[in-house]
Amino acid sequence: MAEALAAVLEAPKNFQFRAFPIPDVGEDDAVLRVEACGLCGTDYDQWLGHLKDWGGGMPIIPGHEVMGLIDRIGPKASKLWNVKEGDRVAIEPIIPCGHCEDCVSGAYTRCQSDLGYGLYQSTDVAPSLWGGYATHVYLHPRTMVHKLPSTIPTDLMTLVNPLSNAIRWIYEVGGVGLGSTVVIEGPGQRGLLAVATAKRVGAANIIVTGTRADAARLELASRLGATATINVDEQDPVASVVELTKGKLADVVLDVSSGAMAPILQAIDMVKRGGRVVLAGLKSNNKLNGLPIDNVVLREIELVGVLSAGWQSTEMAIDMIEKEGNSLQMLCSHSFSLENVTDAVRTLGRENPDSGDAVHVTLTPS
Ligand SMILES: [Zn+2]
Ligand SMILES: [Zn+2]
Repeated sequence: MAEALAAVLEAPKNFQFRAFPIPDVGEDDAVLRVEACGLCGTDYDQWLGHLKDWGGGMPIIPGHEVMGLIDRIGPKASKLWNVKEGDRVAIEPIIPCGHCEDCVSGAYTRCQSDLGYGLYQSTDVAPSLWGGYATHVYLHPRTMVHKLPSTIPTDLMTLVNPLSNAIRWIYEVGGVGLGSTVVIEGPGQRGLLAVATAKRVGAANIIVTGTRADAARLELASRLGATATINVDEQDPVASVVELTKGKLADVVLDVSSGAMAPILQAIDMVKRGGRVVLAGLKSNNKLNGLPIDNVVLREIELVGVLSAGWQSTEMAIDMIEKEGNSLQMLCSHSFSLENVTDAVRTLGRENPDSGDAVHVTLTPS
């Protein structure tokens, strides 16, 4: 029987390479040959062991931003997903149940099925191949499968998942559109993709905040279409937004900074009356003190938490990469082969000072 090779996270910071049999497919499932897997901050948290109570725990094959080629597929899956063997696809991280209230009302990304790729089932759950740090991934019958164009370079194509999130935050939930003023707090991979999205939907003013350590990323933000950048170590971000908008403030503020609380409080002061603050950065379970509730009420500010993207935003991300992917190529900073998985994760977590600033990191099996 043919075997798949996978990097299994056995314990925090401990990858072991293991072989697993490639499962046979039935009527309604499939096997994916992985072309590449994108990494994000969640991968680094997972490697550190901070997610070990989530889903199946360890041992687990990480990798939730998976794309590749359909290796084998059952006839029913082929019909329902509208793909055939050899097609290039991206899969969504979550496998929704299809029956709960969230699923039937169209909000399947809120489904509590606890099934999905890279973050959920351990390798103890048959057929073990549930993550993208591998040569093959098993595709469950309820997998959300998106067909991809065949001509786009691999590293660029792996931007589908983070870009779909940016589209959800900026466009679908944020409501940023022609003439909007938007502040994006945090110039990481997702913040930078939010800049590109804001530009594409026609925002008039795109202001990006970051720290001194983010200098290179703020430069990237400018190249992607930011109209102004603020180094919060040197400038007061609220005063800067007041000045840049001539006192009008922002229609939408998106917080994608991780860990820091100050950006949320600043967002309340940066957004205009009736404006919207989109919260998309996780804060390591920290609580926020000092939230000026009266200010939120009196100025009718909307605070919205958003987790992940869904079907439409993923399709829009694919289209955006196909049409203007060239402008996003500058974000694809690092690509690693599967055997160097530990280097990939450490580089992502800024633990490898010599390897340069990791904006978007991909892992490829070959
Ligand atoms: Zn991710
Ligand atoms: Zn459900």
